[in-house]
Amino acid sequence: MKTFTRLATVTTMAALALSVAACGKEDTPSSNAGGGNAPASDTCQTSGATFTPASGVDIAGSSTFEKIKSGGTVRVGVKFDQPNLGYKDTSGTRCGFDIEIAQYLASQLGIDPAKIEYKEIPSANRETAIKGGEIDYYVGTYSITDQRKNDISFAGPYFIAGQDLLVRKDDNSITGKDTLKGKKVCSATGSTPIQRIRDEQLTEPNNIVEFKTYSECVSNLLDKKVDAVTTDDAILKGYAAQSPTDMKVVGQPFSVEKYGIGLPKDDKALRDFVNDALDAAYKDGTWQKIYDGTLGKSGSSATPPPLERY
Ligand code: GLU
Repeated sequence: MKTFTRLATVTTMAALALSVAACGKEDTPSSNAGGGNAPASDTCQTSGATFTPASGVDIAGSSTFEKIKSGGTVRVGVKFDQPNLGYKDTSGTRCGFDIEIAQYLASQLGIDPAKIEYKEIPSANRETAIKGGEIDYYVGTYSITDQRKNDISFAGPYFIAGQDLLVRKDDNSITGKDTLKGKKVCSATGSTPIQRIRDEQLTEPNNIVEFKTYSECVSNLLDKKVDAVTTDDAILKGYAAQSPTDMKVVGQPFSVEKYGIGLPKDDKALRDFVNDALDAAYKDGTWQKIYDGTLGKSGSSATPPPLERY
């Protein structure tokens, strides 16, 4: 199996093609700031939003916040291989919508985002990491589900995605979830999309391939070892934007994935605080600025979803 390096190479070539194409057009931006499906660069770019740590923060009754305050740092669970969402580039810089939401929340908690301790935690290990106190919160395409609420709690939603399919550019045989029979379909262990493929029997059990991460699925798609990658459209559009000549998103979403901030189950004070912080970002334009400068570059537009407090 080829690794993510191959994807990076494709990306570099795509970026090169973009910069060559840009030559001679004086007003062409060097980034793909215009959105659309322009190739995304492997090099991290931020939205430009600034996150100044709040002072004098107190959250009465939050045991998690007590630890954050006394340690002067916050431990945040993230993804690292999801372009424009939770991404780490080759220089080690992190960027993306989820990363900036995590940084914004740290600043609201009074912590300088530069002091965040990031922990890369794959889909299957999120509840365990939160329950075990390994992280203070998780921001990484984490769908709010009743089953997960048995173990942890969620603030949000702060974004709504839908399950979709990523296929090779020249494959016209897969046009939606009902065209997957006999096709090899790849997704991540412990995710809602892989569960849905199984529950709805969208392909045969022996045609379901799983890895810890979606980038492993993408490498397998490019290597023709699987026929489709399935997960949230927001994630898939990021991969397609990195390699637009090799892959495309089918564009027929078949679920509603509400992204929440994963929090310790019994810390309602922290959950209320995070919901208030999200609400403030919705109202003062911070959310929109982050979105437009990160996930919006994968080729979609969005506005903040209504919070579902509990
Ligand atoms: N949003 C889905 C989930 O939480 C898929 C993305 C992911 O695995 O992070 O399972």
